[in-house]
Amino acid sequence: MNDISVKISALREQLGKKLCILGHHYQSAAVIQHCDMTGDSLELARQIESIEAQYLVFCGVYFMGEAAALLTRAEQQVFLPEPHADCMMALMASGCHVRNVLLELQAMDQDVLPIAYVNTSVGLKAQVGTFGGAVCTSANAKEVLNWALTSGKKVLFLPDKHLARNTAQALGLGPDDWQILRLSGDGLLDKAKDLTSKRLFIWPGCCPIHSQMRVQDVQAMRLKYPGCAIYVHPECPPELVRACEGAGSTSFLIKEAQRLADEQSVKDLIIGTESNLVTRLALRHKDALRLLPLKEAYCPDMNAITEEKLLILLQNIERGTAKALALEEAERQPAKAALARMLTICR
Ligand code: SF4
Repeated sequence: MNDISVKISALREQLGKKLCILGHHYQSAAVIQHCDMTGDSLELARQIESIEAQYLVFCGVYFMGEAAALLTRAEQQVFLPEPHADCMMALMASGCHVRNVLLELQAMDQDVLPIAYVNTSVGLKAQVGTFGGAVCTSANAKEVLNWALTSGKKVLFLPDKHLARNTAQALGLGPDDWQILRLSGDGLLDKAKDLTSKRLFIWPGCCPIHSQMRVQDVQAMRLKYPGCAIYVHPECPPELVRACEGAGSTSFLIKEAQRLADEQSVKDLIIGTESNLVTRLALRHKDALRLLPLKEAYCPDMNAITEEKLLILLQNIERGTAKALALEEAERQPAKAALARMLTICR
């Protein structure tokens, strides 16, 4: 244990039951070792309401802290070790822009229900809640999109165009059923475009970390490791997903790695997602199989959270000087409604 780890452990002990540290799976091993709870977005969201601690420290990017703050009780506070770490994909869709697009679609006689991936701001989730829509995660995107598609309305899925198409394809939809929207700075670019034949409108955002993975990476791995199994996250492009043995959320990838390690049915398992998670899985299953990243892919924002920053935050919490994450009151209720709808759909 280094000096910082020792100090963090001492502060955790001192703060005792008042403190709960949550960590997303994409956090580094140095940070994860200090977390009381780890998980992907859905797993962590599900656990928030059962947490009794007064101080919740969220080791993850900004939208994750905001989502946690939506689900906590009034007497609880949420803190982020690095409040400037934000998800690049979340920044590709603002609440204001989405509202304008939804109003423009309505003006074009398109009755649309919005579905927002959890990787979005509270401001955007609030707009989605106001328009009757729901949040989804990569673990439940299929269930939530199916709910929306069977509502009788059209659907706007945002902001991830890859997750949208991968999920729609899994539900039997094809390119004729959807339209990736072209956007202006504050609304729609293609106002005159005939959208009547489309069931699904897709926001043109993506995760730069998962988007950089290519079919060529899969082909290179198959040449190098014949017989390997390749699994990727559904934020990867659809043509890449189709070239792999499977795709799914972070929790799905963790479970598949465990299954393949238990069965020992493959010698080499290749996983295409954030590299911190792949490195941890490789270590966990090193005796059963060789587990490799499809491509080195570290999210700079997830990696902006360090042990040093965690220590500074805990010291400030202990002194009473840490700044808790604050939500706009006007956004809280509609955003919470969109999140609650997801939890109800996927109960
Ligand atoms: S890996 Fe992609 S989706 Fe996840 S926080 Fe980073 S930019 Fe956002």
